[in-house]
Amino acid sequence: MIEKDGVAPLEMVMKEFPDDKEVLINPKAIIECYKEIPCNPCETSCPFDAIHVGEDINARPKIDFDKCTGCGICVYNCPGLAISVRQLQGDKAILKIPYEFVPRPEKGSLVNVVNRNGDVITEGSVKRVQEGKNQKQTCLLHVEIHRDFIYDAITIEVPRGS
Ligand code: SF4
Ligand code: SF4
Repeated sequence: MIEKDGVAPLEMVMKEFPDDKEVLINPKAIIECYKEIPCNPCETSCPFDAIHVGEDINARPKIDFDKCTGCGICVYNCPGLAISVRQLQGDKAILKIPYEFVPRPEKGSLVNVVNRNGDVITEGSVKRVQEGKNQKQTCLLHVEIHRDFIYDAITIEVPRGS
């Protein structure tokens, strides 16, 4: 229960995904910002006008999947780490997640992928570590997982030694 432990149940999460799963053949930002808070860097940072908060800065952001290119700029800019980019590629899925720990996992390394409860659900392979031009503390980690986990996966377990 999100009110009790801050963990969004899957039915709530699913509402933030496109109704048609095939839309995710192209990379799309998934925004998991469930509370009304005074915040809008997601809206102001998107170069494609795909996210709207609107005049009431407390309103929850809404995404236009037709406009979203999956560039990931909003992921770097969200202070709440509430946005990821997801894409289906055959029997795999690519997650682009914000990551702020150092050292960064290396490209090619295997990592444990966790769900919103923090439970390890599968193994992922780091495909790319993308540093932002302006956000020196946050990188975009591209992690390949099996497509079955595209809804449940949220981030990776911090590798030992980090
Ligand atoms: S991924 Fe890029 S295009 Fe999509 S909402 Fe974020 S900033 Fe806009
Ligand atoms: S920047 Fe992040 S935390 Fe702020 S409104 Fe957008 S999604 Fe929510």
